Amino acid sequence: MDKNMNNFDVIIIGGGLGGLTAGAKLAKEGKKVCLIEQHSIPGGCATTFKRKDFIMEVGLHEMDGLDKNDPKTEIFNDLEVFQNIEFLKIPDFYRFTNERRDIVIPDNKEEAIRVLIEKFPKEEKGIQKFFQKISGIQKEINQLPTEKWKLLLLLPVFPILSPNLVMNTFKTLGKFLDDIIGDEDLKLVLQANLQYYHDDPYSMSLIYFSAAQGSYFNGGGHFIKGGSQKLSDYLAKIITDNQGEVVLGNTVEKILMKEGRAVGVEYQKTFGKSKEPVQVFAENIIANTALPNVVSLLPKENQKPLQQKIQHLEKACSLISVYIGFKKEIKQLGNKHYSTFVCDESVKTQKDLFKNHKGSFEKRNFVFVDYSQIDSGLAPKGKSFGVICSADYLSDWEKLSKEQYKKKKEEVAQIFFKRLEKLIPGIMNEIEYYEVGTPKTIQRYTLNPNGTPYGFAQIPKQSGMFRIPNKSPIKNLYFASAWTNPGGGFTGAILSGWFCAKDILMIK
Ligand SMILES: Cc1cc2nc3c(=O)[nH]c(=O)nc-3n(C[C@H](O)[C@H](O)[C@H](O)COP(=O)(O)OP(=O)(O)OC[C@H]3O[C@@H](n4cnc5c(N)ncnc54)[C@H](O)[C@@H]3O)c2cc1C
Repeated sequence: MDKNMNNFDVIIIGGGLGGLTAGAKLAKEGKKVCLIEQHSIPGGCATTFKRKDFIMEVGLHEMDGLDKNDPKTEIFNDLEVFQNIEFLKIPDFYRFTNERRDIVIPDNKEEAIRVLIEKFPKEEKGIQKFFQKISGIQKEINQLPTEKWKLLLLLPVFPILSPNLVMNTFKTLGKFLDDIIGDEDLKLVLQANLQYYHDDPYSMSLIYFSAAQGSYFNGGGHFIKGGSQKLSDYLAKIITDNQGEVVLGNTVEKILMKEGRAVGVEYQKTFGKSKEPVQVFAENIIANTALPNVVSLLPKENQKPLQQKIQHLEKACSLISVYIGFKKEIKQLGNKHYSTFVCDESVKTQKDLFKNHKGSFEKRNFVFVDYSQIDSGLAPKGKSFGVICSADYLSDWEKLSKEQYKKKKEEVAQIFFKRLEKLIPGIMNEIEYYEVGTPKTIQRYTLNPNGTPYGFAQIPKQSGMFRIPNKSPIKNLYFASAWTNPGGGFTGAILSGWFCAKDILMIK
């Protein structure tokens, strides 16, 4: 492609956090960016929607870290995020409750160790080992300078630099906990929020669990005042403030190739009658869209290298959310906790967790997030917003007619409400409005296959050195999303965008 034909320096397919972070950094560094998003708002999972009086947060329960060692801190400083977005510290990490235990886990490592030893005195050694290990892993990850985080991909060649990372490359969380702890309740308490990463402790990568959990124990959990849309909108604004374009409500249908290089994309309106395709060209293309989607955007003859790399990879689980607007602040009903993880009585050991996630909604473990515990900015004074969330699968929602789908959503909401009422008596009377978001909803709004927000499952054989790198096997095509390096969640997606931008800018 003749350089002069390019309309842009970089085209980004998708406006999730990976695409937005890459776009913001590149635009700030003087690149002309065009980001194309199929939805009418930027953000992907990091969005909000308005219903009645309420701003409903789609995805953010807690963002980890933001301490001085967290690589996001450098990114947010560079992009002046802290000057423009207000982060609210969440009081505790989480509360775990089952029929035997009710424990609040502080977000500070020393305090968490103290509380856990008090509750499980016989397990003192195991508790110390747990925190030593996850801190050791997390420290080694953070010691890699930000630009070298992607060296995670090469870990086994750094046994001296990163012994914890190397030794645990193939370890799962489940096996690790079995090795160091005897009490099954303690194992459940320590991974109460497993659904934030994966659905099965026996295939959850210990390194990935430690990176995220360690970051929560270092810097705590945070919410964005007014909702995660604020961050997404801010990143999009950096692009438009720097001569870039953010094209909303348009879907990329094709990646255009010339002589083996990605040179442009073809897009058209997501909805509406006038569906004239538009072609734009650039030096580099970044795909924030899910990796399996990238394959189908490529011309048939260029699909093979990527298809071969990803065809056997396992996709992560999805989530179901019941978004609720309350007539009251739920803290007025006596609830004192931001995140409460409810573990069903049928779950006796961590071996029961995977089955539980796949099982009936009557028993499936869930979290209730009560945003009235902070000044969230999601509801008018005196009212509040909350969400019930659980691991889920697209297969629970496929092959239903429109009516069956609607009916099932209502049934599931009522099941969760009854279970929530047991936790916080009187809460059902305070519901003003609710809406259910299923894996099908996530799929519809993000185009992520299986409706997964986490990309490929974070299991040892798909983590670290085995994760698909940000530079694709196709010339001039990059990946920035939960599907690629380093992984899912707000942090994973933001880092992937950052790495991509740096690769393109050829800076460290
Ligand atoms: C209910 C829920 C709760 C969560 N809670 C947390 C939490 O508390 N903490 C945390 O860290 N993480 C959480 N996550 C996970 C986190 O939000 C995601 O992992 C992360 O935001 C994914 O970012 P991404 O860059 O991969 O893009 P995505 O959010 O997947 O977005 C991809 C974007 O690309 C667009 N797109 C796709 N294909 C095309 C195309 N062909 N043309 C144009 N546009 C396209 C989509 O519309 C979408 O906007 C949660 C997610 C969900 C759904």
